Amino acid sequence: MLFLEHVPLAPYTTFRIGGPARYFAEAASENDILEGVEFTRTRNLPLFVLGGGSNLLVADEGFPGLVLRIALRGSEQQGDVFQVSAGEDWDAFVSRAVDGGYAGVECLAGIPGTVGGTPVQNVGAYGQEVAESIVAVRAIDLHTLDIRELTPLECGFAYRRSIFNAAERGRYLVTRVDYALRKDGPPRLSYADLKRHFAEKPKPSLAEVAAAVRKIRHSKGMLIVEGDLDCRSAGSFFKNPVVSTEHYGRIAGSVGGAPGYSVGDGLIKLPAAWLVEQAGFHKGYVLGHAGISNRHALALINRGAAKAADVLALRDRIVAAVEQRFSIRLEPEPVFLGPESG
Ligand SMILES: Cc1cc2nc3c(=O)[nH]c(=O)nc-3n(C[C@H](O)[C@H](O)[C@H](O)COP(=O)(O)OP(=O)(O)OC[C@H]3O[C@@H](n4cnc5c(N)ncnc54)[C@H](O)[C@@H]3O)c2cc1C
Repeated sequence: MLFLEHVPLAPYTTFRIGGPARYFAEAASENDILEGVEFTRTRNLPLFVLGGGSNLLVADEGFPGLVLRIALRGSEQQGDVFQVSAGEDWDAFVSRAVDGGYAGVECLAGIPGTVGGTPVQNVGAYGQEVAESIVAVRAIDLHTLDIRELTPLECGFAYRRSIFNAAERGRYLVTRVDYALRKDGPPRLSYADLKRHFAEKPKPSLAEVAAAVRKIRHSKGMLIVEGDLDCRSAGSFFKNPVVSTEHYGRIAGSVGGAPGYSVGDGLIKLPAAWLVEQAGFHKGYVLGHAGISNRHALALINRGAAKAADVLALRDRIVAAVEQRFSIRLEPEPVFLGPESG
């Protein structure tokens, strides 16, 4: 495996932002990964695992260790289970599944990034999340260098969460994900936007649902389209916060009603996009070279020449305003990679 030096990371991210990696290599096999780990150990360097860079903000100073880009390719089908290598493009896999008549990931069409990135934050959209179809995650335990096959239970999936980005963050490097899909199963039609879309056509096909998801995503700047500045982002920048019923009541009372839905245990989830807009940050808001997408209040964007510092300044401004107005501290969804990471 080739170890490159001082490689600019911006082109490897959907934000198109970020300084250089001190070292950079592309791992095409599990052996390459072990070689990369060995490289960092002998030099006492931090390691960062890069997928498609679609949930990532890289600091302007870059990263002082090794960025290992996961480029393991290939997939196998055993019955209804698809074993897909971590470096495969997620959206391409969704298209193959939908074209083959397999249900289970059709609402996750149009999400950028790699297969290996999907279990990390339990990727979800339009009423579906990967935790519903993942049956195993093959990963290298970076503590012991053993290869593990983790069950969904061991992955600890929750909303935008798993052990990979929470309790065991940095420990596992995902090399393959197994998804169990349903041949000729019906598409998932639970999300309001999708139901509305198919109001006149109650039984759409899988392909029609995937196409509708892509269309809706495009209308919101949540589909990567070359040259479209509204999608030069990391998708949603903030997670939807969960508050107590009392807290929700105070918010709703202060503005004459608020969207939200119960997630059980007396807790209510609020749309972060609504909070951001209520706090004064409308679609198209501009702060220097950074801004908010013209089509979605939750996507912070690079308007062309933004630095990570511009995005972070906008993040801080939004977080402070929402906290002051609603006593909620918004949590960013993308991962931040900087000189202190690793
Ligand atoms: C326009 C747009 C729309 C989006 N829409 C959605 C959406 O609807 N729903 C959603 O959930 N997300 C969405 N995202 C976020 C992003 O696409 C997903 O989180 C995606 O799964 C990230 O995968 P990646 O390969 O790009 O990971 P990266 O951005 O490269 O990495 C993200 C994190 O995962 C870790 N990681 C990546 N690969 C591995 C691996 N093989 N093993 C261990 N750790 C790994 C990295 O170390 C890092 O911590 C969107 C992003 C954009 C730009």
